[in-house]
Amino acid sequence: MDGLGTDWAIDWVRRSAAVVGEHRAELSELDRAIGDGDHGENLDRGFRAVLAKLDGASPETPGAALRLVATTLISTVGGASGPLLGTAYLRGAQAAGDAERLDGTAVVALLAAARDGIVARGKAESGDKTMVDAWTPAVDAAQQALAAGGDASAVLSAAADAAESGAEATVPMVARKGRASYLGERSAGHLDPGARSSAYQLRAASDAVAE
Ligand code: ADP
Ligand code: MG
Ligand code: MG
Repeated sequence: MDGLGTDWAIDWVRRSAAVVGEHRAELSELDRAIGDGDHGENLDRGFRAVLAKLDGASPETPGAALRLVATTLISTVGGASGPLLGTAYLRGAQAAGDAERLDGTAVVALLAAARDGIVARGKAESGDKTMVDAWTPAVDAAQQALAAGGDASAVLSAAADAAESGAEATVPMVARKGRASYLGERSAGHLDPGARSSAYQLRAASDAVAE
């Protein structure tokens, strides 16, 4: 059967952990400009815990792997981003259900559910300078890639590209949610750390396909 299986999901998780670790200082540096400077440490702590859990578990479906990420991030990431990303992975896991493989349609559903979870939890709209500004363009691009006949791999690659551009586009925005909103107009001119880390995680999902 076609589509992405548990190996893909586990590789996605491992690649996310690696890229977050690699960019920990950069993510905290971004957060220092408009927040409290801990975003890289928060996520790195969470993904290290995810890796530790993964070593003792053998998830049998993509959904089970994503559920493990969700519960671990929710319990180990201190900041706002923990519950938000945790909800994203939880909703993504629910969308994946107990399917053994995910085709393009299922991957789009997973990404859309993840984004909807972040919005339900954090109430941010597009343009509020948050991680939603990476996730929403990613979901839109994924839907377009699917409509154009793309498979799961094409869907993820489009999502990763759009998330990167979406993160870049947060630079001129004025933050209206989260800690950065306390700065008002002074938040403009800086890239949102959560949008950047979300783009890294979506790139990891795409890179995991190729391997
Ligand atoms: P904290 O702000 O508690 O220190 P982090 O630094 O780990 O948490 O995460 C900050 C990131 O969380 C921001 O860059 C932003 O992308 C995201 N964020 C904060 N509040 C919201 C929200 N209400 N909706 C969506 N994303 C949010
Ligand atoms: Mg912070
Ligand atoms: Mg904090």
